[in-house]
Amino acid sequence: MDFTPTDEQRQLVEMVRSFVQKEIVPLETELPPDAGRLPEHVAAPLRRKVEQMGLECWDAPSEVGGPGLDVITQTLLAIEMSQHRAGLYTPCYGLFGGGGLANLYDADEDQKKRYLYPTMRGERRGFFALSEPSGGSDPARAIRTKAVRDGDDWIINGSKMWISGVVDADYGIVVARTGEGRGGLTQFIVDKDTPGLTMTRVIPSLRRVEEPTELEFDNVRVPDANRLGEEGKGFANAAGRLVKVRIPYSAQCVGVAIAAHRLAVDYAKIRETFGRKLAQQQGIQWMLVDNEVDIDTARLLVLQAAQLADAGKNVKREAAMAKLYCTEAASRVIDRSMQIHGGLGVAAEMPFERWYREMRIRRIGEGPNEVQRLVIARELLGGAASIRGEKK
Ligand SMILES: Cc1cc2nc3c(=O)[nH]c(=O)nc-3n(C[C@H](O)[C@H](O)[C@H](O)COP(=O)(O)OP(=O)(O)OC[C@H]3O[C@@H](n4cnc5c(N)ncnc54)[C@H](O)[C@@H]3O)c2cc1C
Repeated sequence: MDFTPTDEQRQLVEMVRSFVQKEIVPLETELPPDAGRLPEHVAAPLRRKVEQMGLECWDAPSEVGGPGLDVITQTLLAIEMSQHRAGLYTPCYGLFGGGGLANLYDADEDQKKRYLYPTMRGERRGFFALSEPSGGSDPARAIRTKAVRDGDDWIINGSKMWISGVVDADYGIVVARTGEGRGGLTQFIVDKDTPGLTMTRVIPSLRRVEEPTELEFDNVRVPDANRLGEEGKGFANAAGRLVKVRIPYSAQCVGVAIAAHRLAVDYAKIRETFGRKLAQQQGIQWMLVDNEVDIDTARLLVLQAAQLADAGKNVKREAAMAKLYCTEAASRVIDRSMQIHGGLGVAAEMPFERWYREMRIRRIGEGPNEVQRLVIARELLGGAASIRGEKK
């Protein structure tokens, strides 16, 4: 496989890299360590710069007015956008838009007008609610929230748990049971102010931005016009989205790992112990080398998944491998880079402690890593791919 970037990709990467290094990284010295948003007077001029680059709503397809970048270009840009302290969960503080909209790209035109376009313009915000108190890693079995048809409406009852972004959102995509088994799940767009929908609590966790929440649905009435996709296709559509989302999700981990490693290399060259620079001590060199190997392997796996996705292949296995490996490799890179910094590594003035906390969630969110291993095992043992990964 050839991952040499095209001239256009190289230019886009350079543009985003320079934006992150010149505009975002310096800002973070002034922001609180867990900041998730920029004050509007700071964000507004930066947003105009993003518009000049033609990269607002950078991951949207051209049919809905986005730049229509292929998956590999999106992957290269996701690696760049996340190379700063808030980069894992809020790359460039949301200035490039996108994120969490993937389901709405397949909405009907009326739904796009009411939800997708206003969200792309920054006027509305959504959440995605799949997980429930009964479980998130096996949603096809765990989902108990029910939607029952009532004339032109649906009545939803049940609860959702661990749902991110609810506090700032004004609508959400909710997966509910309309029948039995995997074919009995349907997605609905639900306005947050619909009577009967309550955010019962925020669940404080390792991540201080977009804290997860619990939601209760008590006879929530939703018009059929808000059914997203066909009845009974909710699991297939959500699973399809999860596979696509896993590629940029993995790429962001690579970006953060690169940022952590860069700091470790620079520090090792200036810090002295036992009469020599850290960079001259073999124990430290080996840590840096292990970082290099982890980052290159992770990068190649995510680029492979992206390239196959662009070629229209089923990338279940490759997206699962990228998610599994990138999250674990990035956790190791952050840990080693933190260690190389000694006490400074755990200080809130450095980005490592935030990356360390947030990266831990990445092995659980978007399909826990055990489930990714299960997906790969199914593909391997079910005969969908040979042991060298060649598609049958
Ligand atoms: C900060 C945060 C934000 C989140 N945001 C969202 C969101 O916005 N929307 C949303 O829908 N969900 C969200 N989630 C939920 C997340 O997707 C689930 O936590 C995840 O899917 C795991 O579900 P669970 O917690 O119910 O664990 P369970 O399903 O109860 O599983 C428990 C553990 O057992 C492991 N396990 C399960 N089956 C097997 C097996 N067969 N073999 C080996 N191990 C197994 C799992 O991997 C997991 O580690 C979020 C979670 C967190 C922590």
